[in-house]
Amino acid sequence: MPELPEVETVRRGLAPVMEGARLAKVEAHRGDLRWPLPKDFKERLEGKSVTGIGRRGKYLLADLSSGDVLLMHLGMSGSFRVFRGADKNTPGKYHHERSKHVAHDHIVFHMSNGAVVTFNDPRRFGSMKIVARAKLDEEPLLSAMGPEPLGNEFDAAMLARACQGKKTSLKAALSDQRVVAGLGNIYVCEALHRARLSPKRRASNIATRTGAPKEHATRLVDGIRDVLNEAIKAGGSSLRDHRRTDGEIGLFQHNFRVYDREGKPCPTPGCKGTIRRMVQTGRSTFFCPVCQK
Ligand SMILES: [Zn+2]
Repeated sequence: MPELPEVETVRRGLAPVMEGARLAKVEAHRGDLRWPLPKDFKERLEGKSVTGIGRRGKYLLADLSSGDVLLMHLGMSGSFRVFRGADKNTPGKYHHERSKHVAHDHIVFHMSNGAVVTFNDPRRFGSMKIVARAKLDEEPLLSAMGPEPLGNEFDAAMLARACQGKKTSLKAALSDQRVVAGLGNIYVCEALHRARLSPKRRASNIATRTGAPKEHATRLVDGIRDVLNEAIKAGGSSLRDHRRTDGEIGLFQHNFRVYDREGKPCPTPGCKGTIRRMVQTGRSTFFCPVCQK
């Protein structure tokens, strides 16, 4: 499932072709994705200008001149292809190969500047919803979401408070969008390794009994920010390189320290550990049993 860095990379890929342009024509090849599309989907989009493309957690938010916001989620397998003249680009394609099969092209945006933006989603766990900007605070998909991990308000004190009293594992807590927005299986594993904390550790353990942050919480915040920033940077380079090569350059998976590296040596300097895999809440967790305590 695309996580924050991929979604942010998609945002950066869509912004130059969508911002300031009008949705001249919208095609919806089916009436539903994960959920049914709004009945007035085309009517509320066509003729409106996109005033900005934002992101909240794993959601993309296209602000429209009408005062509506188009809320988009990539689900498990969703991607956008961007065509503008001779330029072809699939922003965010840097962990998993993305489908280009036309049978899975569900939504097509024809922009007034000539760009064509196609949403493809073979498994159809993605979603699109239109919400009035004025009502966005009440939107259930967003209202319970925790802080943006790259935002200024996210710090050790905030993370410790969110984990205070939590009996679940750190892995499960960090994957919970209410604790922190945008992380999933890959980046939780990577952040925990950087913080040298075991994914099995009880979440409440990063806070004191009164909810104050222990040093672990600080390490974890640093680990989360570092890995997300590096992955977004790699995504940015993949955006540029796709135009030239359409190749695999910039794939951040080459920089994974634990994810999908079972049996390989731990990359922590001085650590002689071997990366292991285990299953937690139905998902694979990769970790080093030696330096992650
Ligand atoms: Zn290690």
